[in-house]
Amino acid sequence: MDWYYAVGDQQIGPISKAELQALIKTKKINAHTRVWRAGMKDWQELGRLVKETDPTPSAITPGSGRSRQAQCSECGKSFALDDMIRFGESWVCAACKPLFVQKFKEGLTVAGTMDYAGFWIRFGAKFIDWIIIGGISFIMFIPLGFVMGAAARSSSSTIIAVLIQLLNWVIPAVYATWFVGKFGATPGKMACRIKVVTAANQRVSYPRALGRHFAEMLSSIILFIGYIMAAFDDQKRTLHDRICDTRVIRR
Ligand SMILES: [Zn+2]
Repeated sequence: MDWYYAVGDQQIGPISKAELQALIKTKKINAHTRVWRAGMKDWQELGRLVKETDPTPSAITPGSGRSRQAQCSECGKSFALDDMIRFGESWVCAACKPLFVQKFKEGLTVAGTMDYAGFWIRFGAKFIDWIIIGGISFIMFIPLGFVMGAAARSSSSTIIAVLIQLLNWVIPAVYATWFVGKFGATPGKMACRIKVVTAANQRVSYPRALGRHFAEMLSSIILFIGYIMAAFDDQKRTLHDRICDTRVIRR
């Protein structure tokens, strides 16, 4: 039976059941993905389809009770329905079940358990980070200011001015990269109990954290439109979340 699935307004398919399962396995689709196949009245969320318990006649050998059998979609052998679990219109045997459930759960984590953090909580976190970065910069610039004052007319004052400019870039970049790479959150985000993860709810690597920091600059130079985008996104993604394929979730 051919399946179709929806990404945004786009309906993709037909694909085979095996292809559909492969998509779940590779986390391309998840429990919230709407799917449809011939014979279904409406599009349905994949997660709901799996929870459904009424048996589908096509996969089942006629009979009743324990004599009713179905073919395992993983290993292809026939087993009694009582010993199997159902996935859409296919069945999985007891032996294949642990691995299958594991695969499916991995797919489900993506949408099932992620609680996306909204615009205002993220703004609050950002505000705290601004204060902290401002404090760090202030402390570092005081001695530089003294040196600059002392060296007023020499060429070293230019060097110090350049150094301050440089630090204005480096401090926020190191701050964001180190905290997000190591803890998944900056102190501001920790205080607001939110964190940055990948689309698959995994830890963000240091390179991705650094990339996200620079992508975030893009979000702010376009009049903060990159941030405001979060308010209109179903997964509350900002522009830099989209560029780096990250999400901000509540802990
Ligand atoms: Zn099996």
